[in-house]
Amino acid sequence: MDTKKNTIPNSKSWAIILVAQFLLFFLMSKLDFAVRFFSQLFDWKKNWHIAQFSGISFSIGDLIYIILGVLICYFLLLSIKFRTSKYLKHILIIGNIFYFTYQIFWGMLYFQPPIIQKLNNKKITDEEIKKLTIKYLNLCKNERAVLNEDKNGLPKVLDFARMKQEIINQQKLLPKNICSKNSVDIISIKPSLFNSFMSKTGILGYYNPFTSEANYNPNIPSTQLPFTTAHEMSHQLGFAREQEASFIGFLCAHKSQIPELRYSANLYALKSLIKAVSYRDKRFAELILKSFSPKMKRDIENELQFVNRNEGIVNDFFGVTNDLFLKSNQQQGSITYSYFVNLLIAYEI
Ligand SMILES: [Zn+2]
Repeated sequence: MDTKKNTIPNSKSWAIILVAQFLLFFLMSKLDFAVRFFSQLFDWKKNWHIAQFSGISFSIGDLIYIILGVLICYFLLLSIKFRTSKYLKHILIIGNIFYFTYQIFWGMLYFQPPIIQKLNNKKITDEEIKKLTIKYLNLCKNERAVLNEDKNGLPKVLDFARMKQEIINQQKLLPKNICSKNSVDIISIKPSLFNSFMSKTGILGYYNPFTSEANYNPNIPSTQLPFTTAHEMSHQLGFAREQEASFIGFLCAHKSQIPELRYSANLYALKSLIKAVSYRDKRFAELILKSFSPKMKRDIENELQFVNRNEGIVNDFFGVTNDLFLKSNQQQGSITYSYFVNLLIAYEI
């Protein structure tokens, strides 16, 4: 009696399992206790997970993506060549394992309670946001004046290893009302193997949930590298949402002892504030841009040149040109600022 044949799932069964997974994780994302469970699981496993790949100098996660990509192409080509759907089963198995691992290690963290709920989320006036913009303009001017420069007159990251350690140290000092997560004790931030693709698409860095590696594009301007590092390392701490990782990265960087890290974060905050304020008062935003010190103007020019040089399809934080982001129509009534700006304001006011 041949029962074996019937017990091996075929393509259809794997497709059903995948759909069942979508439904299961969707349902779990609606249940507080399930989200809390995955959040605690991440907290519990993160140092162990980071330790598995931190000793290898290149990005293992990137390599895994390359292998998976090659495998999927291989099975697709076999399916086309032999006009059979039997190889689709392999693709569906990969898809199932990939999706399951992703959700267990990372996906459910997007449903954690938002940080803004822990802060004083009061309504902000235009005057308050303008005041904050001026505060960050002055902060950046003062910090930029004393930074070491390279031969092109751009800020230099003096000691990258020390900077990474400083971010870990600052993560431990985050206010407990904002972050009650266990600390990360191991550094695992690596230059991505996909750096030219990242330059072309404006991606500064990314977190790999399968290997817990934080990856960055090593070609980005030195004014963006420190903050990008802090942002990616915030993902390792367990903050999945992009704008929350930026906020946590900002908190770690702006109190740091390392001037280039502080400047990079404050410049990011300033750019975000200018963008937010430009929706309401374009002239004020232009005035702030004109008030940049010559050194800051050089930094921004360099960031824009980097985008233009790479013909970035997706612009980075702030818009392809100053002109573009100031072109946004002034809007009346209520306006939604970026979530990062909302967090910054709630923290500052
Ligand atoms: Zn991110």
